[in-house]
Amino acid sequence: MKLRGNRAVRRKMCQEDDLRVLVKFKEGSDINDVGLCALTYGLKKALGDIEMAKILRDGRLLIKCKNIGQRDKALKIQSVCKKEVGEVRKFGEWGTKGVISGIPLGEKLVELRKVIKGGTVVSVKRLQANRNGEKLDSTSVLLGFKEQVLPERVMIGYMSFYVREYVPPPIRCNKCQRYGHIAKVCKGKQRCGKCGGEHEYGKCSDRDERKCRNCGGDHTAAYGGCPVRKRAVEVQQIRTARNLSYAEAVKSVERDRKEGGAKGNPNAR
Ligand SMILES: [Zn+2]
Ligand SMILES: [Zn+2]
Ligand SMILES: [Zn+2]
Repeated sequence: MKLRGNRAVRRKMCQEDDLRVLVKFKEGSDINDVGLCALTYGLKKALGDIEMAKILRDGRLLIKCKNIGQRDKALKIQSVCKKEVGEVRKFGEWGTKGVISGIPLGEKLVELRKVIKGGTVVSVKRLQANRNGEKLDSTSVLLGFKEQVLPERVMIGYMSFYVREYVPPPIRCNKCQRYGHIAKVCKGKQRCGKCGGEHEYGKCSDRDERKCRNCGGDHTAAYGGCPVRKRAVEVQQIRTARNLSYAEAVKSVERDRKEGGAKGNPNAR
């Protein structure tokens, strides 16, 4: 599978005439609390008539402006509907994220960051892996780069590391346990992540019962080996690789499935 296919798209996004601006809000300022009408009014008041706006799943606000003057005004925005802006940049200037593997667990990441060559590293974070329901540190490290295009490799001293595209873990609702949305927008019933029953997590009548809400198997909803989870991971991969919406990616996975092409998870090493 072509995981690097969206790099060309990213390159296109950082062109000067890109009228899209991405706004990240300060901690505790949730733009989802504002309401769509109030948000529309607030944006119009601050920037004038814009092309469109969208709240992304990670809580950032995407604004598409009508002209460069409006975009430059948007780039200086301090607050939206009294929600304080933490950071605002052109859509294509948020950098890229890549993963390198084989970093020993004892390695100090702060020190490592200083010596990495091959890209401008702005953040380092060790990834965790789910082993039998327990989250443990892995030898994979997530690198945030300032650049728009992910480097093929980075050097740490004499050692060379292949950089692969980061695929964020799939989102699972902690109310109904289904994949693809968060509890805040959930229309489903409360389900237990342990036994799948209609109650809060762990308030089970049978303490030992494990039944997955998604596939019916004898494991918790979070289990990494769950076939439904595996499919959700595939959807994430395809979203990242082909820059698709969640719904488009689900369709694409269904299509691939019919054609018999199952794929693995590039983050899981
Ligand atoms: Zn839900
Ligand atoms: Zn339960
Ligand atoms: Zn399952």
